[in-house]
Amino acid sequence: MAIATTSPVTGEVLRSFDELTPEELEDKLARAAAAAASYRLTGVEQRAEWLQHAADRLEKEVESVSGMITTEMGKTFRAAEQEVAKCIHGLRFYAAEGPAFLRDLEGDGERVGAKQTFVTYQPIGVVLAVMPWNLPLWQAMRFAAPALMAGNVGLLKHASNVPQCALYLEELFRDAGFPDDVFQTLLISARRVEQVLRDPRVAAATLTGSEPAGRSVAAIAGDEIKKVVLELGGSDPFIVMPSTNLERATDVAVKARTLNNGQSCINGKRFFVHEDIGDAFIEMFVAKMGALVMGDPMDEGTDVGPLATESGRRDVASYVDDAVAKGATVLLGGELPDGPGWFYPPTVLTDITPEMRMYHEEVFGPVAQVWTVSSLEEALQEANGHPYGLGSNLWSEDEAERELFVRDVQSGMAFINGNTTSYPEIPFGGVKRSGYGRELSDLGMREFMNAKTVWIG
Ligand code: NAP
Repeated sequence: MAIATTSPVTGEVLRSFDELTPEELEDKLARAAAAAASYRLTGVEQRAEWLQHAADRLEKEVESVSGMITTEMGKTFRAAEQEVAKCIHGLRFYAAEGPAFLRDLEGDGERVGAKQTFVTYQPIGVVLAVMPWNLPLWQAMRFAAPALMAGNVGLLKHASNVPQCALYLEELFRDAGFPDDVFQTLLISARRVEQVLRDPRVAAATLTGSEPAGRSVAAIAGDEIKKVVLELGGSDPFIVMPSTNLERATDVAVKARTLNNGQSCINGKRFFVHEDIGDAFIEMFVAKMGALVMGDPMDEGTDVGPLATESGRRDVASYVDDAVAKGATVLLGGELPDGPGWFYPPTVLTDITPEMRMYHEEVFGPVAQVWTVSSLEEALQEANGHPYGLGSNLWSEDEAERELFVRDVQSGMAFINGNTTSYPEIPFGGVKRSGYGRELSDLGMREFMNAKTVWIG
């Protein structure tokens, strides 16, 4: 994939970028290693101050940065503003809480014949971050803010369709005061990730993206015995039980399916609705999805913009066509619109069966699959049949149902009566083929640290 900004609204290439030459890549790796040697010795209060400076600068640039996000990947300007606000919050969170997360953990020395034992958290070194385009600032920030606070050095290989966001991040951290080369962007294609990951100067990697990309990076990291965190695909269940407030549940269902124009790893994609409220849910949900305005993402009145890439739209259309050919019922949408750009309309399908590809895979667009079920147990059985296990959602006022859901749903995150989303304050990550490891909170920060045991006799 060429490294370029291409408008998802028109399909026009707006700006192209040259890939790093082999010499330029070598120079960046050498700089990263040199930066890691000195950056690990900086104080935590100093790092926190630099994070605050980055937040201050981003705050002044919300409008221009949001415009850049919308231009590169097509989410609505409003959604881009929310993404930038989340980044500012994330930077401030790690600036405020990071020093406490990095404190030594005292042990009971006497029990192991020592005067003192403790665990001290030390940076691991240079970490490669391979990131996707769907939240081009936040995905990279949720790696960068804790990693830089921890004393690590970052190398960002961002998705090829968001080069301006990638370069902006490097500039943001440099201008905030972080020493040179502590955070660098590598404009390279995906096939060169292997070379970087195998380089002995790179200690670890984190990848947010598709299952095939995760499998490849995990295999290389395994071969090199390097730590890796994987945040991969999701096809989250969204289970609605009779005791819930349907108005609220359908509002969130619509948001879940159309945020980022439907290109979100978490957020409900498969809706399991109890039969007692099945018809009412479907009527309300389809009406609300159908009322959304699709159009230019820069327009204030637009709810759903185009998909980010031409191939992404092709994939979504082929999942829907496959399901329809095999007997799915289309309640809304399902047809490619005429005209330029990579628009795909909000779509609702029922009668999904295991022969259809979407039953076992992930549709990365504004497509909802709705089932009616006779019990929570049945919903959980269907939900857990999927290979992914990222987030999950239950809508219920019943305490026993909530307990069952938390106990039995196979996912890294279980949200009840609210949309699944990431917060800097709580861990984020999946199980099964959605990946492993955690981002965010203190857990995320410590993924890329050496928890060094110290024993003093
Ligand atoms: P993708 O193709 O895997 O791309 C993501 C990143 O990986 C890009 O930087 C891409 O570079 C790179 N990449 C692709 N193939 C690679 C390979 N074989 N080796 C190394 N790097 C490789 O993902 P996408 O389709 O653009 O993004 C959507 C996917 O990401 C969905 O499955 C979604 O669920 C997932 N996602 C997960 C999370 C989460 O937190 N779990 C969050 C967001 C998205 P190029 O752009 O140069 O190809």
